[in-house]
Amino acid sequence: MKPIDLRSDTVTRPTTAMRAAMAQAEVGDDVFGDDPTINRLQETAASMFGMDAGLFFPSGTQSNLAALMAHCQRGEEVIVGQSAHTYKYEGGGAAVLGSIQPQPLTNKPDGTLDLAEVEAAIKPDDSHFAITRLIALENTIGGKVLSRAYMADAIALARRRGLSIHLDGARIFNASVKLGMPVKDLCAGFDSVSVCLSKGLGTPAGTVLVAKAPIIEKAKRARKMLGGTMRQVGIIGAAGLYALEHHIERLADDHANAKRLGSGLERLGLVVDPVQTNMVFAAFPKEVCGPLQEHLAAEGILAFIDPRSRFVTHLDVDSAAIDRFVETVYAFLAKNTKARPAVLTQAG
Ligand SMILES: *Cc1c(COP(=O)(O)O)cnc(C)c1O
Repeated sequence: MKPIDLRSDTVTRPTTAMRAAMAQAEVGDDVFGDDPTINRLQETAASMFGMDAGLFFPSGTQSNLAALMAHCQRGEEVIVGQSAHTYKYEGGGAAVLGSIQPQPLTNKPDGTLDLAEVEAAIKPDDSHFAITRLIALENTIGGKVLSRAYMADAIALARRRGLSIHLDGARIFNASVKLGMPVKDLCAGFDSVSVCLSKGLGTPAGTVLVAKAPIIEKAKRARKMLGGTMRQVGIIGAAGLYALEHHIERLADDHANAKRLGSGLERLGLVVDPVQTNMVFAAFPKEVCGPLQEHLAAEGILAFIDPRSRFVTHLDVDSAAIDRFVETVYAFLAKNTKARPAVLTQAG
């Protein structure tokens, strides 16, 4: 049976058609700006987002870091969520390599930052303080969508206070598909947006940063310094172009499968957060976590089972895979939990 991997949407393998596009890619030395495929990818992405230019990166971490370094000088500050990837999951790169001071604020349960708190965190012009330069948001964040109205308010605040504003849009197309709003409208007003091609879009690697021209110029310097400028990189870029053409609308399938997974677990009596995009968060009793995860692995299902588990849907899981996962969890719980939840009997 085909293995099922629900650990992340980064686990996808390029499809046959994507591999064909990669094999046929025209390439050149991108350090000289000679790679026609990567140039086309950067232009295509920039135009989808209504931005001046795009710049390809090997990873989203490097794209975010280069963007932050483009916005902030040493000793300047970014206001960012405690749960944001740029703050929490990038090895402290902004501080370590960019000498940028993060000012983290607690994300609200819906993933937003309280804009009054953001404004209160902006430092006065006083030599005691770092110079606040940037606000960084993330959409989707933990699978949750930030609305256009919220982002527009954040952009207006940045403008009013003379700050720049960056969006970590690793999964921005999930937000766009969920809201039924093109990314050009959804992201209008940001100075830069980092867009992962290797998450739900299903490429083997790569992120494109789209931004205003002066930011791209600075990010290009940072990319070189960080070792991210590559040569015949159109081979990977071709996968990105293919994904932008063929893998955006289908994100709706991932969202439907995530809902199916969520309601399946709910029927087993588990507490599941409302599902918005391609992530499902569910609570499992602590004592079953280890054994259930092992049982699933033995059945060819890879998933992290924790008291608060995250399951992610993607290109390589279909509704039949979701059903097999839920049935396998059911069978395990029915056999191994003494206090049989009422719902289990109902479901059985
Ligand atoms: C995955 C991800 C990134 C970038 O990750 P890489 O693994 O470096 O490509 C950035 N932000 C968010 C929100 C992500 O999920």
